[in-house]
Amino acid sequence: MIHEINKAREIYRLESDESLISFAKSNVDSLSPEIISVLIDELKKRGIGPELIQHIESKYEILDELKINNWIEIIRNSKCPECNQKGNRLICFKGRNTFSILIKSTYLKRTFIACEHCKAKIIRRLNYETFLLGWWSFYGLFRTPYSIILNLVNKNLNPKSEKENMTRYVLYNYKQLKEFQSNLDEYLKNNS
Ligand SMILES: [Zn+2]
Repeated sequence: MIHEINKAREIYRLESDESLISFAKSNVDSLSPEIISVLIDELKKRGIGPELIQHIESKYEILDELKINNWIEIIRNSKCPECNQKGNRLICFKGRNTFSILIKSTYLKRTFIACEHCKAKIIRRLNYETFLLGWWSFYGLFRTPYSIILNLVNKNLNPKSEKENMTRYVLYNYKQLKEFQSNLDEYLKNNS
Protein backbone atom coordinates (compact mmCIF):
# COMPACT_ATOMS: atom_id res chain seq x y z
CA MET A 1 0.00 0.00 0.00
CA ILE A 2 2.83 2.39 0.88
CA HIS A 3 4.18 1.76 -2.61
CA GLU A 4 0.79 2.66 -4.20
CA ILE A 5 0.54 5.80 -2.07
CA ASN A 6 4.02 6.95 -3.11
CA LYS A 7 3.23 6.18 -6.73
CA ALA A 8 -0.02 8.18 -6.58
CA ARG A 9 1.80 11.07 -4.89
CA GLU A 10 4.36 11.12 -7.71
CA ILE A 11 1.71 10.92 -10.46
CA TYR A 12 -0.45 13.70 -8.96
CA ARG A 13 2.62 15.89 -8.49
CA LEU A 14 3.32 15.77 -12.22
CA GLU A 15 -0.24 16.57 -13.35
CA SER A 16 -1.24 20.09 -14.39
CA ASP A 17 -3.70 21.97 -12.16
CA GLU A 18 -6.55 21.52 -14.65
CA SER A 19 -6.08 17.82 -15.17
CA LEU A 20 -5.69 17.20 -11.44
CA ILE A 21 -8.99 18.93 -10.72
CA SER A 22 -10.78 17.13 -13.52
CA PHE A 23 -9.29 13.80 -12.37
CA ALA A 24 -10.45 14.48 -8.81
CA LYS A 25 -13.98 15.36 -9.95
CA SER A 26 -14.48 12.25 -12.02
CA ASN A 27 -12.58 9.62 -9.99
CA VAL A 28 -13.04 10.44 -6.36
CA ASP A 29 -15.76 7.81 -5.85
CA SER A 30 -13.54 5.00 -7.04
CA LEU A 31 -10.42 5.84 -5.05
CA SER A 32 -9.41 4.28 -1.74
CA PRO A 33 -9.40 6.51 1.39
CA GLU A 34 -5.57 6.55 1.45
CA ILE A 35 -5.34 7.73 -2.15
CA ILE A 36 -8.05 10.37 -1.63
CA SER A 37 -5.91 11.80 1.19
CA VAL A 38 -2.92 12.03 -1.19
CA LEU A 39 -5.08 13.79 -3.78
CA ILE A 40 -6.41 16.29 -1.22
CA ASP A 41 -2.86 16.97 0.01
CA GLU A 42 -1.72 17.79 -3.52
CA LEU A 43 -4.72 20.08 -4.16
CA LYS A 44 -4.11 21.90 -0.87
CA LYS A 45 -0.39 22.22 -1.53
CA ARG A 46 -1.15 24.00 -4.79
CA GLY A 47 -4.00 26.04 -3.30
CA ILE A 48 -6.43 24.94 -6.01
CA GLY A 49 -10.03 23.67 -6.00
CA PRO A 50 -11.07 24.85 -2.51
CA GLU A 51 -14.74 24.00 -3.15
CA LEU A 52 -13.85 20.61 -4.49
CA ILE A 53 -11.67 19.93 -1.43
CA GLN A 54 -14.49 20.95 0.86
CA HIS A 55 -16.93 18.73 -1.02
CA ILE A 56 -14.62 15.71 -0.86
CA GLU A 57 -13.72 16.29 2.78
CA SER A 58 -17.33 16.59 3.88
CA LYS A 59 -18.34 13.54 1.87
CA TYR A 60 -15.51 11.29 2.96
CA GLU A 61 -14.60 12.90 6.26
CA ILE A 62 -10.89 12.78 5.62
CA LEU A 63 -8.97 11.56 8.63
CA ASP A 64 -5.76 13.26 9.58
CA GLU A 65 -2.90 11.42 11.23
CA LEU A 66 -3.85 12.60 14.70
CA LYS A 67 -7.40 11.26 14.41
CA ILE A 68 -6.14 7.96 13.00
CA ASN A 69 -3.62 7.57 15.82
CA ASN A 70 -6.31 8.33 18.41
CA TRP A 71 -8.46 5.57 16.98
CA ILE A 72 -5.55 3.17 16.88
CA GLU A 73 -4.92 3.84 20.59
CA ILE A 74 -8.60 3.28 21.42
CA ILE A 75 -8.56 -0.05 19.54
CA ARG A 76 -5.26 -1.16 21.09
CA ASN A 77 -6.70 -0.60 24.57
CA SER A 78 -9.97 -2.43 23.91
CA LYS A 79 -10.94 -5.89 25.04
CA CYS A 80 -9.40 -8.66 22.91
CA PRO A 81 -12.21 -9.99 20.66
CA GLU A 82 -10.74 -13.50 20.93
CA CYS A 83 -10.07 -14.03 24.66
CA ASN A 84 -12.23 -11.19 26.04
CA GLN A 85 -9.35 -9.97 28.23
CA LYS A 86 -8.52 -6.34 28.67
CA GLY A 87 -4.99 -5.09 29.33
CA ASN A 88 -3.01 -6.72 26.53
CA ARG A 89 -2.50 -4.24 23.74
CA LEU A 90 -4.28 -5.34 20.57
CA ILE A 91 -2.63 -5.72 17.20
CA CYS A 92 -3.95 -5.98 13.66
CA PHE A 93 -2.83 -8.73 11.29
CA LYS A 94 -3.91 -10.65 8.21
CA GLY A 95 -4.75 -14.33 8.27
CA ARG A 96 -5.42 -16.62 5.34
CA ASN A 97 -7.08 -19.93 4.86
CA THR A 98 -7.94 -22.19 1.98
CA PHE A 99 -10.83 -24.66 1.72
CA SER A 100 -11.31 -27.07 -1.14
CA ILE A 101 -14.36 -29.11 -2.03
CA LEU A 102 -14.30 -31.27 -5.18
CA ILE A 103 -13.11 -28.95 -7.94
CA LYS A 104 -13.67 -25.72 -6.03
CA SER A 105 -11.12 -24.01 -3.87
CA THR A 106 -11.79 -20.95 -1.74
CA TYR A 107 -9.03 -18.71 -0.54
CA LEU A 108 -9.93 -16.27 2.21
CA LYS A 109 -7.87 -13.38 3.49
CA ARG A 110 -9.16 -11.73 6.61
CA THR A 111 -8.09 -8.96 8.94
CA PHE A 112 -7.94 -9.83 12.63
CA ILE A 113 -7.67 -7.68 15.72
CA ALA A 114 -6.43 -9.56 18.76
CA CYS A 115 -3.81 -9.62 21.49
CA GLU A 116 -0.36 -11.08 20.75
CA HIS A 117 -1.19 -14.34 22.54
CA CYS A 118 -4.41 -14.87 20.57
CA LYS A 119 -2.69 -13.99 17.32
CA ALA A 120 -0.51 -17.09 17.64
CA LYS A 121 -3.62 -19.16 18.42
CA ILE A 122 -5.54 -17.75 15.42
CA ILE A 123 -2.66 -18.39 12.99
CA ARG A 124 -2.32 -21.96 14.32
CA ARG A 125 -6.06 -22.49 13.86
CA LEU A 126 -6.08 -21.09 10.29
CA ASN A 127 -3.10 -23.23 9.31
CA TYR A 128 -4.61 -26.32 10.88
CA GLU A 129 -7.91 -25.81 9.01
CA THR A 130 -6.07 -25.10 5.76
CA PHE A 131 -3.83 -28.12 6.21
CA LEU A 132 -6.85 -30.38 6.72
CA LEU A 133 -9.26 -28.86 4.19
CA GLY A 134 -7.17 -26.98 1.67
CA TRP A 135 -5.57 -29.63 -0.54
CA TRP A 136 -8.56 -31.34 -2.08
CA SER A 137 -8.75 -29.64 -5.48
CA PHE A 138 -6.36 -28.64 -8.24
CA TYR A 139 -6.05 -25.01 -7.10
CA GLY A 140 -6.01 -26.14 -3.51
CA LEU A 141 -2.67 -27.85 -4.15
CA PHE A 142 -1.15 -24.43 -4.78
CA ARG A 143 -3.23 -22.27 -2.49
CA THR A 144 -2.76 -24.45 0.57
CA PRO A 145 1.04 -24.08 0.90
CA TYR A 146 0.70 -20.40 -0.15
CA SER A 147 -1.77 -19.72 2.68
CA ILE A 148 0.26 -21.63 5.26
CA ILE A 149 3.57 -20.02 4.33
CA LEU A 150 2.14 -16.48 4.31
CA ASN A 151 0.51 -17.09 7.68
CA LEU A 152 3.85 -18.21 9.07
CA VAL A 153 5.66 -15.24 7.55
CA ASN A 154 3.05 -12.90 9.01
CA LYS A 155 3.45 -14.49 12.42
CA ASN A 156 6.47 -12.26 12.99
CA LEU A 157 5.01 -9.11 11.58
CA ASN A 158 7.28 -6.09 11.95
CA PRO A 159 5.82 -3.09 13.84
CA LYS A 160 5.73 -0.94 10.70
CA SER A 161 3.57 -3.39 8.73
CA GLU A 162 1.39 -3.92 11.79
CA LYS A 163 0.79 -0.15 12.06
CA GLU A 164 -0.04 -0.11 8.35
CA ASN A 165 -2.64 -2.87 8.86
CA MET A 166 -4.12 -1.01 11.81
CA THR A 167 -4.21 2.30 9.89
CA ARG A 168 -6.02 0.65 7.01
CA TYR A 169 -8.47 -0.96 9.43
CA VAL A 170 -9.28 2.46 10.91
CA LEU A 171 -9.63 4.07 7.47
CA TYR A 172 -12.00 1.43 6.15
CA ASN A 173 -14.07 1.11 9.32
CA TYR A 174 -14.03 4.71 10.48
CA LYS A 175 -17.74 5.44 10.12
CA GLN A 176 -18.73 2.27 11.92
CA LEU A 177 -16.09 2.74 14.63
CA LYS A 178 -17.57 6.16 15.35
CA GLU A 179 -21.11 4.84 15.30
CA PHE A 180 -20.32 1.97 17.66
CA GLN A 181 -17.83 3.85 19.83
CA SER A 182 -19.83 3.25 23.00
CA ASN A 183 -19.88 -0.46 22.26
CA LEU A 184 -16.53 -0.89 20.58
CA ASP A 185 -15.65 -4.24 22.18
CA GLU A 186 -18.74 -5.75 20.58
CA TYR A 187 -18.02 -4.12 17.22
CA LEU A 188 -14.45 -5.47 17.16
CA LYS A 189 -15.72 -8.92 18.08
CA ASN A 190 -18.04 -8.97 15.06
CA ASN A 191 -15.78 -7.19 12.60
CA SER A 192 -12.28 -8.54 12.86
ZN1 LIG B 1 -6.57 -12.29 23.32
